[in-house]
Amino acid sequence: MKLKIFALLLLCLAAAPTWAATCSTTITGNDALRYDKSSITVPKACTTFTVTLKNVGSMPRSVMGHNVVIAPAADVDTVINDGATAGLDHDYVKPNDADVIASTKLIGGGDSASTTFKVAALKPGVPYEFFCTCPGHASLMRGKIELK
Ligand code: ZN
Repeated sequence: MKLKIFALLLLCLAAAPTWAATCSTTITGNDALRYDKSSITVPKACTTFTVTLKNVGSMPRSVMGHNVVIAPAADVDTVINDGATAGLDHDYVKPNDADVIASTKLIGGGDSASTTFKVAALKPGVPYEFFCTCPGHASLMRGKIELK
């Protein structure tokens, strides 16, 4: 019986397709206003893509909260300004903001949050970026989305 389970396990490992696209990524944000990534690659082969943010800092959400918001590069400033108006209670993202492709909640040190979006929402040829909308953070916490 044990041998059979072991054989099945091997089969599963062998069957894992090497061509399968990775349809998720994890980003960390810290108390020094830095993400650990400056770009994210979103494979076109994915139907949906999930971004998980881990705040590896130690300060609370109200002091050093971070989120990950994805929007067309041309709309980043507007999204940040609208987010500042929406305030902490709305995770610094305007509710139902049409410019926002995806956004996580704003989280404090030790917390994590995810957001999943449809890859079809990213139009080829349009530059997209990910950034933190906590006021003042996006000057450092900002990176590019690459659709490949
Ligand atoms: Zn931040």
